[in-house]
Amino acid sequence: MYLYNSATHKKEPFVTHTPGHVEMYTCGPTVYHFAHIGNLRSYIMEDVLEKFLRYEGLDVNRVMNITDVGHLTGDSDEGEDKMLKGARREHKTVMEIAQFYTDAFFDDCRKLNIKTPDVVQPATGLIPEFITMVQGLLDKGYAYLAGGNVYFDTSKLARYHIFFDHDEEDLQVGVREGVEEDTNKRNKNDFVLWFTKSKFEDQALKWDSPWGVGYPGWHIECSAISLKYNGEYLDIHCGGVDNAFPHHTNEIAQSESYLGHPWCPHWFHVHHLNTTSGKMSKSSGEFLTVQVLMDRGYDPMAYRYFCLQGHYRKNLTFSWEALDNAQVAYNKLIARLAALRTEGKDVDEELLAERLGRFKKFIGDDLNTSMGLTCVYDMLKAKTSDATKLKAIAAMDEVLGLRLLSRAQAKREENARAAAAAKAAKTSGDGMTILGEGDEEIDELCRRRAEAKKARNFEEADSIRAQLRDRGIELTDVPGGVKWRRV
Ligand code: AMP
Ligand code: ZN
Repeated sequence: MYLYNSATHKKEPFVTHTPGHVEMYTCGPTVYHFAHIGNLRSYIMEDVLEKFLRYEGLDVNRVMNITDVGHLTGDSDEGEDKMLKGARREHKTVMEIAQFYTDAFFDDCRKLNIKTPDVVQPATGLIPEFITMVQGLLDKGYAYLAGGNVYFDTSKLARYHIFFDHDEEDLQVGVREGVEEDTNKRNKNDFVLWFTKSKFEDQALKWDSPWGVGYPGWHIECSAISLKYNGEYLDIHCGGVDNAFPHHTNEIAQSESYLGHPWCPHWFHVHHLNTTSGKMSKSSGEFLTVQVLMDRGYDPMAYRYFCLQGHYRKNLTFSWEALDNAQVAYNKLIARLAALRTEGKDVDEELLAERLGRFKKFIGDDLNTSMGLTCVYDMLKAKTSDATKLKAIAAMDEVLGLRLLSRAQAKREENARAAAAAKAAKTSGDGMTILGEGDEEIDELCRRRAEAKKARNFEEADSIRAQLRDRGIELTDVPGGVKWRRV
């Protein structure tokens, strides 16, 4: 597959260290609040990448951190302690907050059909490994102690700032607000590996270390977690574009200095989801979550569909109108799929191979998901059997992850239920409607109950209802009549 690499600034063949095997790392969420749909755009596109690699037959080991030591808004320990702020806001402990929002994150992922990584590691669970790495960097002369903290010395590197082809504006989120100059630093880009001096008086999470009681810097978790679970050679590292600098830049600095060899050749960055009023960010307060979309009646799959319509290397602008369009298009697609006959077995293997080859070419060309969607529509229009269409679309959806076939099946069942109900709907002589499942005897009892009610003979009406209940029939009054169903 060809994939744009932010480290080399070009699209290139994706080659792995061990043929047939992919070591993949993803920067996970900071769990002091719900993930917003911008964060989730990044995870959706990374999920498509992972699904495609697996579809291609590669064996993928995907690792993700959970940032639950989220005290920091910047390298110089400025800003606010986000975890603590979250805990205060919700009258919970920091670890309760972390657990709650970690669960909420994976819940959102399930709704969006984002696969859970093979390894998920909360930062607080691996502090000894972080300390080992920081000590290693000190031993090798890449780090220094100043003012009680341990800093990485960027002047020791021949190469730094490799991602600078991104827009300055995109990088601003990564730099994060409220960062002031730290006078302990020898060089402007030096960054903290371990803090013992915190400006937060009530620092919630602290650990003992050779340099005193404190907590890890902002970047060390990803280097150490990846080293532990991906090994010394990572094939691809993913994240939102705001992570490119300084976070990923500093991860490279730490990992390569510690390991003494190149670490990760390929960097995959997803661009931002913007709203019409600007970038979506957690710190800006108001942001959209999957739950908000669902509360407004949208299907999370419609959001995934919306994301797939855009290219991951372009900013995507969210609007309710755009989501409406995605929802309508998704529903129509499901309805068209539901209309295909599932009984047929006559698959045109030649056409199938040709269409799947085309699909793979598009996705394999820097993840062209919008053309991937077009392949699904082209397949629906193709002059071939329904069995061929269904088989091709099922394969495409292994990558797109839009739950197309299961939703189509649910739609078929819904259509069948509606048709049965319509067939069973009877209008009696006096214009009464009976909605049921097509049983003359029960319809008759319903009619008698309605007549009893009309004659204010409630005893008789209740007795018929009880009789039906005993037979497992539930009645619901509907305008102009009654609806019954077996429970
Ligand atoms: P965070 O939980 O803030 O650490 O972010 C989780 C992931 O979402 C990171 O990979 C970020 O780079 C990414 N991200 C943050 N804001 C956006 C956005 N507006 N659009 C797309 N991805 C984003
Ligand atoms: Zn990271």
